Amino acid sequence: MPYTLCMHELGLMTGVMSAVEEAAGQAGAQRVTDISLSVGEMTEAIPDALQFAFEALSEGTICEGANLHINLVKPRSRCLECGAEYEHDRFHMACPTCRGPFTELVAGREMQIDSIEVDLPD
Ligand SMILES: [Zn+2]
Repeated sequence: MPYTLCMHELGLMTGVMSAVEEAAGQAGAQRVTDISLSVGEMTEAIPDALQFAFEALSEGTICEGANLHINLVKPRSRCLECGAEYEHDRFHMACPTCRGPFTELVAGREMQIDSIEVDLPD
């Protein structure tokens, strides 16, 4: 399926790839086989576009051919009025308990590497 390279996901993935390559380099890895990412929905990143950006960026690198696992994280906020903590979507952030508009996002903006699996030389 053809995808257009999306600048947003390319930018996010560029940061991920440099962190992965640095960690793999420090571990003395020959090849990266699996990468697990937690991606908050508030990043507005699309998993398919992330996958495509990864494939484009990893070509010719230590990460080429690695499996990318994307774990989408639902946005969650804490109400500063009543202290309730709740999941929500990108567009409805007000507190469902007291309807307070003053909230703090506690999850959903992450772009975090959970684990990297590598092949080490014998
Ligand atoms: Zn509240």
